[in-house]
Amino acid sequence: MHILVTNDDGVTAPGLLALAQAMRALGRVTVFAPDRNWSASGHVKTMDRPLRVREVTLADGSPAFACDGAPSDCVALSLLGFLKEKVDLVISGINPNANLGHDVTYSGTVTAAMEAVIAGVPGVAISLDSPENHKGALYYRTAAAVAHQVASQVLEKGLPKGVLLNVNVPYLRQDQLKGVLITRQGLRVYRDELDRRLDPRGRPYYWIGGQAPTGVEEPGTDFGALRSGYVSITPLQLDLTAYSAISELEQWMW
Ligand code: MN
Repeated sequence: MHILVTNDDGVTAPGLLALAQAMRALGRVTVFAPDRNWSASGHVKTMDRPLRVREVTLADGSPAFACDGAPSDCVALSLLGFLKEKVDLVISGINPNANLGHDVTYSGTVTAAMEAVIAGVPGVAISLDSPENHKGALYYRTAAAVAHQVASQVLEKGLPKGVLLNVNVPYLRQDQLKGVLITRQGLRVYRDELDRRLDPRGRPYYWIGGQAPTGVEEPGTDFGALRSGYVSITPLQLDLTAYSAISELEQWMW
């Protein structure tokens, strides 16, 4: 088995190394990741400039490819032929923060797995629900073990066509995990605020500021699972059609 490991935090991120190391027990691993942080960059296809790829060495001495494109560009390049060997699984992470509810449309971690699905390769995104304002190194061991479990099942059973998995892991020791729940997307509550400031020349500039988002902790959702100490696995698809709206729109005067 050949596993492509990528992320959106950049090739030097500790979560990427933890994931690559966990995947090595399952097969041959190629690491191909962005050369910088692309968190919250969404689904990107870079078409207005060339993409460069460098060979780099991870902190454990293993080789990796670093690209100046987005996570989805890394996956696209890999699967379009940059990698000669067929890829059986694309896994993206381990993101240091959860990707829940509407986050999936912003997330570079998740959109890397979406790109895999577009190319017809199973895709998995894995994120750690670390505490807000955590200082110092994060504990990735639990999420790495979960990644190993999820990847081995996906390699064995495959995924339905067009489906990727969005996996979120509570920030717990492995023996504290309650188990795994298959969930639906919950509701993110964003608390964004426009922060308008003035530069030294008196011209305004803007930040999307405010507090970190929260979410509705409803049973059956990704939020609900994490809050009760379970790993959340949400199957996602790229068909965003609002089927429930079709019949009503058909009644409009066209
Ligand atoms: Mn990230």
